[in-house]
Formats: sequence, C-alpha cells, structure tokens
Amino acid sequence: MFIVFISTFMAITINPHIIFAADLDRLKGEKVKLTNEQNAILYYLNNTREEIDRIKHDLLSLESKINILENQIKNLELNIKKIEIELKNTIKILNEKAIELYKRKNNSFFQAVISPKDIITFFKNMNLFGYMMKQDSEAINNYIETKEELIETKLTLEKNHEELNSYRDQYNSTHNSLLIKEAEYEKRLEEIKIQVAKLENNLKEIEERIKKIQLQYPNLKIVDGYRVLATGYCPCPICCGKYSSGYTAIGLKAGYGVIAVDPKFIPLRTKILIPGYGVAIAGDTGKKIRNNHIDIGFDDHSDALRYGVRFIYIYEIGK
Ligand SMILES: [Zn+2]
Repeated sequence: MFIVFISTFMAITINPHIIFAADLDRLKGEKVKLTNEQNAILYYLNNTREEIDRIKHDLLSLESKINILENQIKNLELNIKKIEIELKNTIKILNEKAIELYKRKNNSFFQAVISPKDIITFFKNMNLFGYMMKQDSEAINNYIETKEELIETKLTLEKNHEELNSYRDQYNSTHNSLLIKEAEYEKRLEEIKIQVAKLENNLKEIEERIKKIQLQYPNLKIVDGYRVLATGYCPCPICCGKYSSGYTAIGLKAGYGVIAVDPKFIPLRTKILIPGYGVAIAGDTGKKIRNNHIDIGFDDHSDALRYGVRFIYIYEIGK
C-alpha cells in the first residue's frame, strides 16, 4: 500500500503535462501583454509619423507662400525705385521749364509771342506756346498719377511685409513643434527597439520551450488550472465529527486520493491533479466546503494538519 502510494505520487509530481499547462498559461499571458504593449507603441508611432507628415506638408506650403511674397516684394521695390527716379526727373524738367519761362519773361520769346512782326508769326508762336503748355500739363498729370501709384505700391508692400512676417511666425512655431515631435519620436523609437528586442527574446524562449516539450511528449494534452483554497482532512472524528464513518458522501473510502469539493464548482467524480499531492477524485462534500475551497483527503490526521491552508493550482484531468 505504502509502495503504491509513493510510486503514484512520484509519477504525478513529475508529470510534464501539468508543468506545461502552467508554464504555457504564464507565457501566453506574457506574450499577450508584450504584444499589446508593442501594438500601443506602434499605434503611437504611427500617429506621430502622420502628425510629422502633416507638419512637413504645412511647412512646404508656407515656404512656397513666403517665396512668392518675397518675389512680389522684390518686384515692388524695383518698381518703387523706378517710379521715384521718374518722379525726380519730372520735377527736374518742370523746374527747369519754370526757370526758363521766368528768365524769358522779358526776352524775345515773349516779346515775339505778344508782339509779332506779322500775324503768321503770331499764330506760329501761339501754336508753339500751346504745344509746350500741353506737354507740360501732360507731365504734371503724369506726375500726379505716378505719385498716386507710388503711394498705392508702398501700401501693398507694407501689407505684403506684414503677411510675410505672419507666415514667418507661423513657420517658426510649426517648425518648433516639428522638432519637438521628432525628439519625441526618436525617444519612443529607442523605447520600442528595447521593447521589441525583449519581446522577440521572450517569444523565442517560449517557442523553444514548447518545441522541446512537444518533441519530448508528442501526445501532449494541455489542461486548465484552477486556483483554489486548499485545506487537509482525514476520516477521524476531529475532522469529520458525526460523518467519521470512514466513507465519503458518494460512498468512497475516505483518506488519501479523495477530496471534498463544492459540486457546483467541481462536479463529483472529476479526476483532479494536485501538484505535490497527486491525482484525487472529487468524491466528498462538506458543509464548509463552498466555491473554490477544496478539502484534501489524508489517511493520517497529522498529515492533514501539516498540510495547513494554502492557495494552489489544481488541474482537471478527466472523469
Ligand atoms: Zn483528522
């Protein structure tokens, strides 16, 4: 009896199926966690990259606007210079003419116009005089027009300068935010490199372990584990009181290999593997055994006491 007990116990505690189930659960959890982390970082990076692309696009359109404005300003400045030279020349010519006319006030020209030798000369002179007057008035009109044009051009130039300055401000703030985004991007990139290296190492490790176990145990069966509160009992009156008949609720011999369960949590007659204990049948019930609490059967009262109270993982391995 003792020999059988030991050999069953040994065979089960080294059962590779159980080790595999627990490890696989843990590694699967790790893989899910790391994959989620990686996805979150990738999502962030994707967003940052899109934002950077948008900002770059904004910068390009700002740059082209600034270029156009700068060319417009250059042309306006050239125009203003040209107009100013024209105005200077017009004023110079008008001045010269005025001085000339003043000088000639008493000379032969006026005399000739006012008192001609004959009527033909008079009309000739009058025509000449009229022609000169017409030319001067055209020059004056031209001067006025050109001056108005200059004022308008200067206003346009001022407006363009203001616009250019606002674009430059926009450009600078956009460029700054781009630099900040790029720094963030670089930082996250370094982080994800470390994360991905970690993930790849872990996954490689998981795959290697699974491969190794599968090679060793081709008919591997993965079982689910439950976390339960475990206590120990034996068939004695201290443990069972008035139920210390030596038999369990379903008529099995009470002791090692039988556990008391809440049938709503673990159906009766289910085969349960308990690491460090062995295989047991869910073959008993108890008033105090509710939900995920199991009472593990022992042949000896001192063994039951020694087991104490603990949280453990158990595995369902059939009926
Ligand atoms: Zn007992």
